Amino acid sequence: MKQGLYILLALSLVLVMFTTAYVHSEEPALAIIPDRLVTLTFDDGPDPRFTPRILDLLRAADVPATFFMVGRNMLAHPEIVQQIARDGHAMANHTTTHPHLETLSEADVRAELNGYDHALQTLFGPLAPHTPWFRPPRGRQSAAIDAVVAEQHKQLVLWNVCVENSKTTTPEQMRDRVVKLIRERGGGILLAHDGELDRSLTVQALPLLLDALQREGYRFVTLDEYEQARSLKQKRHAR
Ligand SMILES: [Zn+2]
Repeated sequence: MKQGLYILLALSLVLVMFTTAYVHSEEPALAIIPDRLVTLTFDDGPDPRFTPRILDLLRAADVPATFFMVGRNMLAHPEIVQQIARDGHAMANHTTTHPHLETLSEADVRAELNGYDHALQTLFGPLAPHTPWFRPPRGRQSAAIDAVVAEQHKQLVLWNVCVENSKTTTPEQMRDRVVKLIRERGGGILLAHDGELDRSLTVQALPLLLDALQREGYRFVTLDEYEQARSLKQKRHAR
């Protein structure tokens, strides 16, 4: 009887860990945000259920994005990765298997980052479109992650506002929450997800979001342009 209870407890713990694994409910505070600029990032894909629809929406709205992809998903769906590249979006490292990277040794962290690079090489050959950007799963950091990021000259990119949130259950609620948070910050890095879990709500909210923010005068720029504007603003602040 007691054993059964322990098994039940263990199972429910695993379930809670699984359902929260890809939900980013906290908005990390990144201090410097360029004025009225927004840059769109997607994590965890590519996924044939959602990524192609997101690409269609981005094409229709003429908005650039950065896809932080998981290496094993890239190898499983190379045609979607090729489409992302053809559409002119940037691609960036989000590990090979999306583990709890903050729990791994430096050697294992290194292998996770290298696996993404190998996937990119496999798909594009020696002219693979590398970017310096890396985003750790769930935004978690550790000394080992910092060491490998420094050693590989990568640039860690977190976010200011996450599109998905446990409190918003309709596309309209999702839009309103994101617009409010972007307004408070005057712009920022938007994080959305295009893989692993059911992202139907994200796909439905995306056109509403783009429309609402553009109407308010926010400009969607590439992560490159955003980072340049941010470092300029940072220099002005430092003076
Ligand atoms: Zn992720």
